[in-house]
Amino acid sequence: MQNYNPYENMLHTLDIAAEKLGYTRNDYEVLRHPERELKVSVPLQLDNGEVHVYEGYRCQHSTLRGSAKGGLRFHPDADENEVRALAAWMTIKNAIANLPYGGGKGGIKVDPKTLSPRELERLTRNFVRRIAPIIGVNTDVPAPDVNTNAQIMSWIADEYSVLKGEWSPGIVTGKPIEVGGSLGRNEATGRGCLIALQGYLAKKNLDIKNMTVAVQGFGNVGSVGARLIAEAGAKVIAIGDSSVNLYNPNGLNIEKAYEYANANNRSLTGYSEPGMITITGQELLTQDVDILYLAALENQINKDNMKNVRAKIILEGANGPTTNDADTYFFEKGVDIIPDVLANGGGVVVSYYEWVQNKAGFYWSLEEVNERLTKNMQNSFEAVWQMQEKYNVAPRLAAYMVALERLVIETTLRGYNC
Ligand code: GLU
Repeated sequence: MQNYNPYENMLHTLDIAAEKLGYTRNDYEVLRHPERELKVSVPLQLDNGEVHVYEGYRCQHSTLRGSAKGGLRFHPDADENEVRALAAWMTIKNAIANLPYGGGKGGIKVDPKTLSPRELERLTRNFVRRIAPIIGVNTDVPAPDVNTNAQIMSWIADEYSVLKGEWSPGIVTGKPIEVGGSLGRNEATGRGCLIALQGYLAKKNLDIKNMTVAVQGFGNVGSVGARLIAEAGAKVIAIGDSSVNLYNPNGLNIEKAYEYANANNRSLTGYSEPGMITITGQELLTQDVDILYLAALENQINKDNMKNVRAKIILEGANGPTTNDADTYFFEKGVDIIPDVLANGGGVVVSYYEWVQNKAGFYWSLEEVNERLTKNMQNSFEAVWQMQEKYNVAPRLAAYMVALERLVIETTLRGYNC
């Protein structure tokens, strides 16, 4: 496996975006460096009395447009470099969605599946105490990401509020509805992916009906997105998560698989239906399908396997699933990518709506949330599309260009020392 450095990947694309737009290094040098990074040691007394200490991180890549904003992931592969790249991608994503947010990301290097629910709660609360000095409703607002969910967000809101001495629901988004979450937030990333896909299909005069789809990842983004894409008329023939990959040439019953995984600790292990067989992860990625929906982790399609990919369209629900090499290869080959910073922006868009509702203390209907989300995604899609057409560049580069243009204008207006 080649050396993979996601932050370098991000810088590479940013530099090309700047060059295309005619910017000098001075115009955007600030954005090449994360503003603030915190590494913490998070203690946890296990249920059996043993004490373990885990590494935790929070990176605020930019606060130029507003609070740093982005998720927290609990994963054994989380580290400073990954979190730094993910934070920078949030800066780009939030600028494309035109939200008044900068970019941030954090996490704990841990496999949460090895912890009991009580241990997970204690670890989360201890992490909040460690990062409390740098987060805040108007400075840095975390959210769910890989292996974190509404329950964990609820513990974060509670712990932070205790430290602060007042109920502060706006400290975190992706909370359960009962403690200040927004209707529609749970489905927002998957729904946003569908809206971006529909935008693309409309431009190309293509119909989603009977298109075939392979889905990598069956967490929140993968499973909700797969469900909505199937509902819209496509045939999902392969799905997979970290434990198993399933294939049915006649189309899988996504509704059934979704319910199964939800009741089975979000895992597809043990799921079966008539006509289905199991395949390998690489077989899933290289299926002869119209759409490959990547909703797992970074660096899934790279130099090693890009030439085996047979899909015509790649929809990125995960952050950073396609490397720069693969990006260039697909652009030359005519495979279209709907890039992460555009496609999966629906999550943070509805996070923003949740935060606005928390600040106002006034809550919206699901229709209102979804209507605004749809408009926002359509506007973002259009902005990226226009950029792509104007400069004849790959969609990811166009997306970075949209973000960079907005960020540079703001830097110029505010001054270079901000
Ligand atoms: N973790 C999600 C992302 O990567 C959501 C971030 C948020 O809602 O702040 O976009």
